[in-house]
Amino acid sequence: MPWMTCLMDGRHHAVAEPYLVAGLAEGRYLAACGLRVTPGSMFSPPGRRCMSCHVLVTARTSQPPGRRQWWRAATRPPDE
Ligand SMILES: [Zn+2]
Repeated sequence: MPWMTCLMDGRHHAVAEPYLVAGLAEGRYLAACGLRVTPGSMFSPPGRRCMSCHVLVTARTSQPPGRRQWWRAATRPPDE
């Protein structure tokens, strides 16, 4: 997920791709935490990461346990 620094609060927020497209006309983008991000310059360093966005993005992208078990089973030696 793309991250952008908001000019208003100086924090780095996660913006989902559909909201990137939707925000192009307005120049403001809806972040995962619900804030409308007014992006600063592309060349300025990123601000501190927004914890609300971080928690939401981490929860969404972490793998479900079933998939992890499948991976473990696939990498286990065949016979012990
Ligand atoms: Zn945020």
